[in-house]
Amino acid sequence: MNFTGLVAAITGGAKGIGKAMAQQFAARGAKVAILDIDPESGERTAQAMRETGGDAVFITADVGDLSSMERAAQQVAQSLGNTDILCVNAGIYPQAFLESMTEADWDTVHRVNLKGMFLTVKAFLPQLKQSQRGRIVLTSSITGPVTGFPGWAHYGATKAGMLGFMHSAAIELAKYGITVNAVLPGNIETEGLGEIGEEYRRKMEAVIPFKRLGKPEDVAHAALFFASEGAGYITGQTLIVDGGQILPESSLALEDI
Ligand code: NAP
Repeated sequence: MNFTGLVAAITGGAKGIGKAMAQQFAARGAKVAILDIDPESGERTAQAMRETGGDAVFITADVGDLSSMERAAQQVAQSLGNTDILCVNAGIYPQAFLESMTEADWDTVHRVNLKGMFLTVKAFLPQLKQSQRGRIVLTSSITGPVTGFPGWAHYGATKAGMLGFMHSAAIELAKYGITVNAVLPGNIETEGLGEIGEEYRRKMEAVIPFKRLGKPEDVAHAALFFASEGAGYITGQTLIVDGGQILPESSLALEDI
């Protein structure tokens, strides 16, 4: 896959899955804009990519704020050119159990994950329309669309909501040649997941047929596919990247493997 001459903008690109997407697109010739609320990590990621020959800029942007995203989109166009590939990846996943979940907990997660997706697409749509091969890749999750986990009802609602958005957006944007697809990661070893502890990791690994958590690159490769020239006739689709985690119909299925 070659992305030479194309511009990729990646929200939440300072760390984790978004950082791997930024690195993988840059390694294949794309000019990459990292959009994130964490300027220290974002600048460090962009700098490291430039040092290895990549064309990367960091732009501070909050996906939950339309004016911030419009400003960021303008800065991408000025510094790299019009965006061809938009990875809507920024997301947060604080755990909160229903009995203690506050309205603020609910709103915070929805502001970033769901409203943030809409505002990101809205801000970049004028640029994507000008591209010969506009691509939108959403980072959803298995949690919500396919599975559930205590403490993530609000999170799961946003990740399932992203797919609801995708289905209509894919139809609306087809006339511009823009595809809209989603990657659904399982448990991926990122900075965001890092705090969650050794016991969680051990238990999770035990129920994944591949017996390991995913790497950010595993998800980035799925995003590269959706953004590739060859995927131009694929829209409104999902790709699960979970090492087989959702497959076992019970713990019996994992015995003796
Ligand atoms: P991560 O390591 O926490 O990185 C996410 C980045 O997004 C961070 O730099 C974060 O900054 C930034 N961010 C947070 N709020 C933002 C906002 N309002 N505007 C712009 N940037 C913002 O997360 P990750 O694990 O790579 O997850 C990336 C995406 O994958 C998320 O959408 C997540 O739901 C999804 N996902 C992850 C997993 C997993 O196992 N890791 C599984 C399924 C789906 P701060 O650190 O300063 O908040």
